[in-house]
Amino acid sequence: MNDRIVALLQCPVCQSSMTVTEDGKVCRCRGIKTHCFDFARSGHLHLAGPHAGEGDGKEAILARRAFLDAGYYASLSDTINEILDFLPSKTVLDAGCGEGYYTNRMADCRDVLGIDLSRAGVEYAARRAKQLQTRAGFAVASLFSMPVQTASVDAVVNLFAPCAEEEFSRVTKVGGYLVLVGAGERHLMGLKRALYEHPYTNEGRADLPSKMKLVEQQRLQTEITVEGQEMIEALFSMTPYYWRTSDADRAKLKCLERLSTELDFDIFVFRKDF
Ligand SMILES: [Zn+2]
Repeated sequence: MNDRIVALLQCPVCQSSMTVTEDGKVCRCRGIKTHCFDFARSGHLHLAGPHAGEGDGKEAILARRAFLDAGYYASLSDTINEILDFLPSKTVLDAGCGEGYYTNRMADCRDVLGIDLSRAGVEYAARRAKQLQTRAGFAVASLFSMPVQTASVDAVVNLFAPCAEEEFSRVTKVGGYLVLVGAGERHLMGLKRALYEHPYTNEGRADLPSKMKLVEQQRLQTEITVEGQEMIEALFSMTPYYWRTSDADRAKLKCLERLSTELDFDIFVFRKDF
């Protein structure tokens, strides 16, 4: 984790700013009573409070990692990077970074702090940042109570994760941005057609910010062909349908070796003007 990312952090216990000890092994706060947090071997920090709950487990993270690393969502990642290129985005917070696929791709040319409640996700993301030598740093924490200083980041990115508007707004500088992505109405229709007799289109995100100002909206539509049982299953496991599909419908996917499906992403850019 580089110094510029450490400078964004605040102590989850007393909210003081943080610094790294000389040996580089511990992040400690500058509060009256010092709180210390060890860097994990992969280089990330565990800054979640005791009641933060748990994020995605290892199995879900491994499936996402396999699917995303195969490049099926590269068009979304590229579009997010292009949007960030146009915004003031020297320091970015990826809120709900998961296994860090998008985060590390954003962090080639800017400092990005990735936060997620999933330990397995953050650990993999941090390991990948080391391997690829990106400018990303990672911490385990809840999106609703982030160990990040007030008005410290140029932009927050939120891909499919819950929108904690108040907290995102708190950490963003005045004049900074929130880039939010949700599933568009035809997202994964091919997958749904394979599963269900009467597939419905998606409804838009119900949790869009109400206080920040919408300054741009775009729709990214494309089509992919997913190859192989394992990849199809990995995609399925990333969706909300995974938990609400009957065994009979599930079985239909097992016979597929290839699946073509639309991708449809709604991308929103909000600005914090207050
Ligand atoms: Zn402290």
